[in-house]
Amino acid sequence: MDINSVISLVRSNIRRLTPYSTARDEYKGKLGVFLDANENPFSNGYNRYPDPRQLSLKSLLAEIKGIASDKIFIGNGSDEAIDLCIRIFCEPRIDNIVTIRPTYGMYSVSAAINDVEVREVPLGRDFSLSADAMMAACDNNTKLMFICSPNNPTGNSMPVEQLRWLLEYFNGVVVVDEAYVDFSSQPSMLTLLDEYSNLIVLHTMSKAYGLAALRLGLAFAHPSIIELFSNVKYPYNINLAGMERAAELLERNVADEIALIKEERSRVKQQLSQMECVEKVYPSDANFLLVKVADAKAMYDALIQEQIIVRDRSHVPGCEGCLRITIGTPQENDRLLEIMKQKQ
Ligand code: PMP
Repeated sequence: MDINSVISLVRSNIRRLTPYSTARDEYKGKLGVFLDANENPFSNGYNRYPDPRQLSLKSLLAEIKGIASDKIFIGNGSDEAIDLCIRIFCEPRIDNIVTIRPTYGMYSVSAAINDVEVREVPLGRDFSLSADAMMAACDNNTKLMFICSPNNPTGNSMPVEQLRWLLEYFNGVVVVDEAYVDFSSQPSMLTLLDEYSNLIVLHTMSKAYGLAALRLGLAFAHPSIIELFSNVKYPYNINLAGMERAAELLERNVADEIALIKEERSRVKQQLSQMECVEKVYPSDANFLLVKVADAKAMYDALIQEQIIVRDRSHVPGCEGCLRITIGTPQENDRLLEIMKQKQ
């Protein structure tokens, strides 16, 4: 799909939108006195509005991710990017999105908030994706597909070949949510960005980068799509304190933490697999394990008794009997394993 065809899918009110513009957007020359934005003039570090285009943080992220700044949107978590995808492309009560089941809950919550129909395509028994079934769920009003890879809560990555096939044949935008890609053995879809104008890749600073509290999520796409994101977002969606802390903390090398989390994932998986109460530990490309236990409710309660909280997914269709367990520090994982061993 060429970019013009992708833009033709955008809601007409969004295509026509004149975005909010600040006085500092309108004048780019040198300035020393700021009497344009009704701020308090007395300096405390935060009395001025932050850069609505986030140019400085974008150039840092461009370097880290190896993607040009004009292909990057920074959101208040990737949850903002998910919502913007729907608001930009889907006409309420007319258009629909197609996603997988089970998957991350915010695609359908955002769709519901925007009054957009969600069509869920169940994954196979081994949580495999059926590209044919995804296509079969579409009609002329399907604007977006949301595919989470590695998928939350199942932990598996979706094969690149299938994603490519959907990018080729689906007459809409494929959003690949790669929140957990840094823990995966499969490479990111970012390298395909130049090949497919209908690809949006989502990343987040909340997982491998360890910055969940700062609320920084990223969307990568063709510059014309990024421009639409910028037009629709709140002008100052990212605050200065968050941008400054992120710039400092992104200097850290998280490779060692990621390597340790992956090592721990193998160790916890191996130990859980030997427990009698554990029926199955699903393969994981993420920083969590989906674990089928004999009695999920009882195990959840036993862990809570010991002040350990995991995610009970046992009522999610396709995840019956399953807990989703995040990989913690080695000590935290030892504690989890000890309690689960006692409970079996
Ligand atoms: N995508 C997936 C698959 C997630 O699991 C999460 C958070 N649990 C998010 C997106 C949202 O992340 P954030 O808003 O913190 O960037």
